[in-house]
Amino acid sequence: MDSFQELALPAFLHEALKTMHFEKPTAVQAQAIPPALEGKDLIASAETGSGKTAAFGIPLLTFLTNNSSKTALVLTPTRELAEQVAEVFTHLSGGRHDLRHALLIGGVGMDKQVEAIHRGARLFIGTPGRINDHIGQQTLNLSRTGFLVLDEADRMLDMGFAPQLDKMRSWLTGPRQTMLF
Ligand code: AMP
Repeated sequence: MDSFQELALPAFLHEALKTMHFEKPTAVQAQAIPPALEGKDLIASAETGSGKTAAFGIPLLTFLTNNSSKTALVLTPTRELAEQVAEVFTHLSGGRHDLRHALLIGGVGMDKQVEAIHRGARLFIGTPGRINDHIGQQTLNLSRTGFLVLDEADRMLDMGFAPQLDKMRSWLTGPRQTMLF
């Protein structure tokens, strides 16, 4: 893939990429986006700064656009990374109401996060501990989650999140596509 124009993306995504001045895909984007748009699971090894956020963000937003009853989940090892990822999604989604996210991270109150979920967010971005807290309090339901991203999965395991990820997996009951970075 040499250009984003070759891809069958929703029009708003082509517009957002233009606004963001993303003209040519980076290496990880060129390799990951076409198979991900076909619905394939994938594992990608890419450094910070390689454009990995859009490598999963573009297929994820395409999935949500084409599957209006589904939700998506992006897990990160740290709050800071979750915030950075959320910011990229804000730009990529071009302010579309039906693609709003809820940022579910620790260290801040649950109330605003619950509000964001109730307002109809279909994209949940956060850290494993807080997401499990929401599941435990029944403020988050992952039964409609059809797209899962594990960002910096190696770091999540290094940080001892394996039990949290295992616990969460039992709530992801429906069919889903997974991207692991
Ligand atoms: P990331 O690895 O996702 O944190 O992205 C690193 C930086 O590259 C960010 O500042 C992005 O805005 C930028 N970036 C990602 N993809 C592209 C692209 N295709 N063209 C130009 N800049 C990009």
